[in-house]
Amino acid sequence: MNNIIRELDRSKKIYLISHINPDGDSIGSLLALGTSLQYKYMNKIVLLKSDAIPTKFNFLKNVDTLIDIDNIGDIEEDSVLITLDCGDIFRIGEFYNYIDKFKKIINIDHHVSNSGFGYINIVESDSSSTGEIVFNIIKENNLKIDKNIATALYTAISTDTGSFKYDNAKAETHRVVAELLEFNIDKNQIIQEIYQNRSIEKTNIFIESLKGLEFYCNNNIGVIIITEKMMNNINASSQDTDGIVEFIRDIESVEVACVIKEINNSKVKISLRSKKYLDVSEVAGVFNGGGHIRAAGCTIKENIDFAKEQTLKEVIKRLR
Ligand code: 5GP
Ligand code: MN
Repeated sequence: MNNIIRELDRSKKIYLISHINPDGDSIGSLLALGTSLQYKYMNKIVLLKSDAIPTKFNFLKNVDTLIDIDNIGDIEEDSVLITLDCGDIFRIGEFYNYIDKFKKIINIDHHVSNSGFGYINIVESDSSSTGEIVFNIIKENNLKIDKNIATALYTAISTDTGSFKYDNAKAETHRVVAELLEFNIDKNQIIQEIYQNRSIEKTNIFIESLKGLEFYCNNNIGVIIITEKMMNNINASSQDTDGIVEFIRDIESVEVACVIKEINNSKVKISLRSKKYLDVSEVAGVFNGGGHIRAAGCTIKENIDFAKEQTLKEVIKRLR
């Protein structure tokens, strides 16, 4: 931990980034650590946006200050890059093209599949979320925490634990959250913004995709296909498919849920969830993706039928 502060003290600029297809942990941990470091390092801090932010996170303070790739400008020498919630370095998307410009990478993450790509790696796979790790970093280094930072961390931890339902929400997680609540955060507002705010487009892509639900292996596997055409017809954005895979996992007989989403005719995004025993990070790993034991993903550069066939083959092999 001391190493991080020493490294940050001596660097010219400090850039922070989190992963593409951002979720609450990605955005919450980025804003929380970024804002806290801004109190100490002021304009040495630059927060990067690797991808469009789902609109449901617009209520988070400073989300509108993130810098996208078109506005990054020249990266000063001796700059450090802090990656948050990124299981591998390719998760930073197009910013990967700038990777050589950074003197050192500090990798803060909780994915089991993390490849340890940083100069400093704070990777705790038994942590509920990157947000929980960030909270500990802030505390241990006496960095500032305020209501906005606590709100971002609550968002991170709540979303990565399925609102504290999953195994990863341990006693320690609840202790951290209890401390966050002491900052007088508006828990009701956070819950409404992130869970009770579904757009009509998102509702329609749910309805449309569920019509095609398929089961395999005695209803142990549930599969949903989402084509580019379905997305276009409904005018749905990429974030609108979030939550479908969990809905399938929650079917009584289902152990593994797969959402197979066509990005274009040679690129398919796979989302995998399991309920009790199957390690889906292993399946995603076969296709150079990764994640957690119960939640993982990958991108397959093939057509959707082939991608589906390959994914199912890997899942079925492990189910038997
Ligand atoms: P989702 O299915 O929601 O996109 O992702 C589930 C989990 O797997 C998240 O923790 C996410 O960070 C991780 N994940 C998704 N896609 C990829 C990928 O292509 N590579 C890696 N390393 N992790 C992924
Ligand atoms: Mn996470």
